[in-house]
Amino acid sequence: MSKFVLVIGAGQAGLATGYHLRKAGIPFEIVDAAGRVGDSWRNRYLSLTLFTPRQFSALPGASLVGNRELYPSRDEFADYLESYAATFDLPVRLSSRVISLTRGERFEAQLESGESISATHVVIATGAFQEPVVPSIASNFAHEVVQLTSSSYREPSQVPDGPVLVVGDGASGRDIAAELASTRPTMLAAGKPRKLFPERFLGKSIWWWLYWSGLMRAPADSRIGQLMQRADPFPDRERNLDSLAHKGVRVRSRLAGAVGATAKFADGDEAEIASVIWAVGYRDDTSWVKIPAVKNPDGSFAHVNGASPVPNLFFVGRPWQRNRASALIMGAGPDAESVVKLISEST
Ligand SMILES: Cc1cc2nc3c(=O)[nH]c(=O)nc-3n(C[C@H](O)[C@H](O)[C@H](O)COP(=O)(O)OP(=O)(O)OC[C@H]3O[C@@H](n4cnc5c(N)ncnc54)[C@H](O)[C@@H]3O)c2cc1C
Repeated sequence: MSKFVLVIGAGQAGLATGYHLRKAGIPFEIVDAAGRVGDSWRNRYLSLTLFTPRQFSALPGASLVGNRELYPSRDEFADYLESYAATFDLPVRLSSRVISLTRGERFEAQLESGESISATHVVIATGAFQEPVVPSIASNFAHEVVQLTSSSYREPSQVPDGPVLVVGDGASGRDIAAELASTRPTMLAAGKPRKLFPERFLGKSIWWWLYWSGLMRAPADSRIGQLMQRADPFPDRERNLDSLAHKGVRVRSRLAGAVGATAKFADGDEAEIASVIWAVGYRDDTSWVKIPAVKNPDGSFAHVNGASPVPNLFFVGRPWQRNRASALIMGAGPDAESVVKLISEST
């Protein structure tokens, strides 16, 4: 049976896979639910600037135009992905959501349109940051409290006047709180203390040090890899709690409860709010993959270094697929290359 690879997802992970499949001379097609390559970035909040500088925000074979030390905007990177697909003439079929993936003699992907695609190999590159987590506390807030997530939040005009609470102090939560603080009373419910990297060290981007020291490539199960997973640090760039306070963000302790329009914090404090933005992380939607052997008992995707337990079914773009770089732009090329090598070697 001659090989035909279906790549599901045309974000950075899917496109990097396409680049390496083309190089290896293996026939393939990429399908994506979105109407335009780059839409997963265009659908994020408007003011988003990447936290990786241009020199660490590119895919194999094409660098980003502009100052290597500075950060691309959301739309700049989305447009880069779109032109990347065009430059390498990657066969991307848009507006084609896969609603079910099954396996008989070959893989069968059922599209929302009713069509189906059959393939000998599949690479799932659907991203790990699409379904925002909304904790059960959310249902204790009254209807008049407007609730958004870091995925549905685009810009301050969406948020009503009056106090807003951003829950979750990762990079997105901190950025959104800083943006809102100039127009309304803004609180940030923080969890455990976090370590932030300095943006630059000895004249170089911190990413340069992390990359060239090998830290970004430390395997997930190594001692350093495990330390990195626990700390999950991100660059400061005025995201530390003092800078946020200076911008007017009131940092509160963990959100512990809610009644009506009252938020209750772990330290016993309470505050009346008009809106809340959940920025507490993401979960996977794996329901459309109807192949039980590819899932762990908790429903998450099972794989080792991107190879699933099902022969010829692979992943690219999983967090910590091989190392810290795996869910970042800088890791898409190397991870795709290693998966395409496995595909080349398979029968
Ligand atoms: C707010 C935010 C900021 C980030 N900033 C950075 C940064 O500065 N630097 C960095 O290196 N990383 C950053 N990341 C991490 C990572 O680079 C991005 O999440 C990136 O979008 C992941 O790329 P991906 O190709 O794996 O997935 P995605 O970009 O999510 O692409 C997946 C694609 O799959 C499609 N898809 C999903 N399900 C289906 C289906 N069933 N059928 C067909 N198509 C489907 C989607 O439409 C989408 O186009 C950030 C992440 C977030 C959430």
